[in-house]
Amino acid sequence: PFKQRLLVVANRLPVSAIRKGEDSWSLEISAGGLVSALLVLYKGVKALEARWIGWAGVNVPDEIGQKALTKALAEKRCIPVFLDEEIVHQYYNGYCNNILWPLFHYLGLPQEDRLATTRSFQSQFEAYQKANQMFADVVNKHYEEGDVVWCHDYHLMFLPQCLKNYNRKMKVGWFLHTPFPSSEIHRTLPSRSELLHAVLEADLVGACTRILGLEGTPEGVENQGKLTRVAAFPIGIDSERFIRALDLPQVKGHIKELQERFKGRKVMLGVDRLDMIKGIPQKILAFEKFLEENPDWRDKVVLLQIAVPTRTDVPEYQKLTSQVHEIVGRINGRFGTLTTVPIHHLDRSLDFHALCALYAVTDVALVTSLRDGMNLVSYEFVACQDKKKGVLILSEFAGAAQSLGAGAILVNPWNITEVAAAIAKALNMQSEEREKRHKHNFKHVTTHTAQEWAETFVSELNDTVVEAQLRT
Ligand code: UDP
Repeated sequence: PFKQRLLVVANRLPVSAIRKGEDSWSLEISAGGLVSALLVLYKGVKALEARWIGWAGVNVPDEIGQKALTKALAEKRCIPVFLDEEIVHQYYNGYCNNILWPLFHYLGLPQEDRLATTRSFQSQFEAYQKANQMFADVVNKHYEEGDVVWCHDYHLMFLPQCLKNYNRKMKVGWFLHTPFPSSEIHRTLPSRSELLHAVLEADLVGACTRILGLEGTPEGVENQGKLTRVAAFPIGIDSERFIRALDLPQVKGHIKELQERFKGRKVMLGVDRLDMIKGIPQKILAFEKFLEENPDWRDKVVLLQIAVPTRTDVPEYQKLTSQVHEIVGRINGRFGTLTTVPIHHLDRSLDFHALCALYAVTDVALVTSLRDGMNLVSYEFVACQDKKKGVLILSEFAGAAQSLGAGAILVNPWNITEVAAAIAKALNMQSEEREKRHKHNFKHVTTHTAQEWAETFVSELNDTVVEAQLRT
């Protein structure tokens, strides 16, 4: 049967490369929500044959290395874009992670960085445009007529324009995995209008939530006489993959170990990249307040916080790491005993099976994002809880609050008193209410999957292009 080719373009490939020798590489699956979403396309979404184009996360200055890596990646249907160190510094660490990321999450810049950033802004913006052009060159080289090109996230806002400059007939979609900030926030960005115009060159623009900072008609936004379709496509997870994993012997083994290890204590869990937007200090301070107010619980509950290292080259992230360590140390010093501590904080990622086991043994999951596009961790937790029916405490600022709000306890993560009270409520909740809440969430998570999300986006993109042709 005919399969339409799909070129998925994202800053990072779903695999990261590690150099083993002059011409040998090993590949590992990268971590993060965007990667999880893109991985579902591997299994083959119906009628689509996907290829990935992106950066492999390493600097490869030499030709031998580039050739060998290109070959290794081809086996995974991945095509590399090679970015040198200077570009990565200016485009990725600088413009993407230090400017766009905080802005899109309503965080603003740290005071002392504000002036410095204002000064380096122009060169970073130029690097951003240059990097986007480099992605476009690779896409253009691999493009065949009829292909669908799906660009992902805030790293690639110029890509739709670059691609259309090459070929007006290319079907181009762009999807934003972060919140789209309101126009008031967006106004502070010096290059806002260039960025928006470049994105609107796409045929279809999508995001997780409805709060698009773009104003327009129900069908879309008009940009210099051309209509761009703009719509919300809430993302999901491959829930089957999680549910199936729980039946694997090694996962069952992990589950048993964890149950033994934490016998007699309720397990609370946080799983986040160590990012400002995740509200990790707020979460831990709320847990401290809960322990303070509930002495009876002190030896009966443990908080496991998996803090996956991320963007470790950006100073803001280094600061956050030490800040979190300091708070955790203080609280463990305050409430720990000779044999136990209330918080187990891990600066590392877990493999998929270990993560599933952890989700399955958890009594209360704690998601306190200050802003979050969707937050897939909350979905994954729910998928793994059909036996235990634990409680999800969820920030009202995560996209998931719109879909899992009825089943979760919603909180404002800035309000530590409220979060501490939610912890008490969750830990004391009776099984009947837990079941009712879980059922609601489980149904949503298993019926709004990542596969469905991808299929809907691509078919909408195809339709949009056909409709546009009919109009002219
Ligand atoms: N994750 C992972 N390894 C870990 C912990 C988490 O791969 O050790 C994955 C997790 O399964 C989830 C993703 O990272 O799919 C996090 O996605 P989310 O949308 O919650 O947040 P993001 O990191 O994209 O901001």
